[in-house]
Amino acid sequence: MGRDEETDMLTWEDTPTTTAPTKSGEPAAPKFSRVPPAFGGEAAAPAGAVGRLALHAEVHPDPNAVPTAKAREFALVPPPVAGATGLESLEMGARRIQVDDKKIINCRADLNQLVPFKYEWAWKKYLDACNNHWMPQEIQMAADIALWQDPKGLTEDERTIIKRSLGFFSTADSLVANNLVLAVYRHLTNPECRQYLLRQAFEEAIHTHAYQYCIESLGLDEAEVFNMYREIPSIHDKAAWSLPYTQSLADPNFHTGTPEADQRFLRDMIAFYVVFEGIFFYVGFVQLLSFGRRNKMVGTSEQIQYIMRDESMHMNFGIDVINQIKIENPHLWTAQFQEEVRHMIDEATQLEIRYAHDTMPRGVLGLNAGQFNEYLKFIANRRCSQIGIKQLYPGAENPFPWMSEVMDLKKEKNFFETRVTEYQTGGALSWE
Ligand code: FE
Repeated sequence: MGRDEETDMLTWEDTPTTTAPTKSGEPAAPKFSRVPPAFGGEAAAPAGAVGRLALHAEVHPDPNAVPTAKAREFALVPPPVAGATGLESLEMGARRIQVDDKKIINCRADLNQLVPFKYEWAWKKYLDACNNHWMPQEIQMAADIALWQDPKGLTEDERTIIKRSLGFFSTADSLVANNLVLAVYRHLTNPECRQYLLRQAFEEAIHTHAYQYCIESLGLDEAEVFNMYREIPSIHDKAAWSLPYTQSLADPNFHTGTPEADQRFLRDMIAFYVVFEGIFFYVGFVQLLSFGRRNKMVGTSEQIQYIMRDESMHMNFGIDVINQIKIENPHLWTAQFQEEVRHMIDEATQLEIRYAHDTMPRGVLGLNAGQFNEYLKFIANRRCSQIGIKQLYPGAENPFPWMSEVMDLKKEKNFFETRVTEYQTGGALSWE
């Protein structure tokens, strides 16, 4: 097992070996509708935030008194309405925030007060992400430009991979950013998590900038590359798969606060953090890093290595949030919901396998599409384990062990996997 002796942390080779039933032996997965039936006004009335906050002031006439057990019990009864947004009218004289007032979703306490921290893992990730700051222009692209312009520098298959990867990634990171800002942010009711979301949103902008920088450096047709998600079926299908999840949350009438709505939020978190950033990026990562390993397109490969380090942290943050929601709301994690999540991950894994075949009709760079069938099943199993879901493809192995070494450049893991982290103290990658 790939346990790092020095840090006692799980590594990417660390695949649970429990023998779950084989997929072929299981009954056919039920088909779940991606977006639950319209909830309209049933979900939760958006009004009432100010009234609820005023209730706290009535319970504690002295605004700074520590609430009695009875008052706390009363104050902590889950209100049947959505969480605060941070834009409620101020309640003059309201008491100071206690850690126990904070909740990851449906929190009614003031969201403009960062401290006291409840979720230390979110604040640490924010600090680590800031320590990893980088910009695309810092990376030398001269060797890539010379290679790309040399008619004999790359094969047609290699050029196709570069263009398709940039085509997928260039719009993918914008979609992720829009999901964060327009859908997730409003419903994640915790200031330290929001602090990380703001940092993550900037990183998504840096990633989109990096793709634009590569496209411009190589002199590619910008319109062709950026429009690929509306022209190339295997790229389109991944983006199209994810959109209903975020559209559902971005609806201005959507509010968390009912089991159905809260599950809907969880679905979006799983679709974007576990599938999009945790599965859909991985064929492109392996392909582009394979160029660098062969001393080709080293600038593009380095950009991707920085991006992958950031993405790894994004995914681990999302997994921490998902697991925290489960802890605070165990009623959401029903057997049926878990089956639905397995179905989502299975569906997405098949789309990514199709993308691998589409971008790599023939073996290239020592890679072939068949290896990706196994690799993506290995990755999907790992994602299932990280959120406590039964593995989909027992026994799948990692045909690219070198990816684990690249990933482990940053020993950042999600909080629920291990609390041990190794801090990056500068922006530079280690190339030892
Ligand atoms: Fe990301």
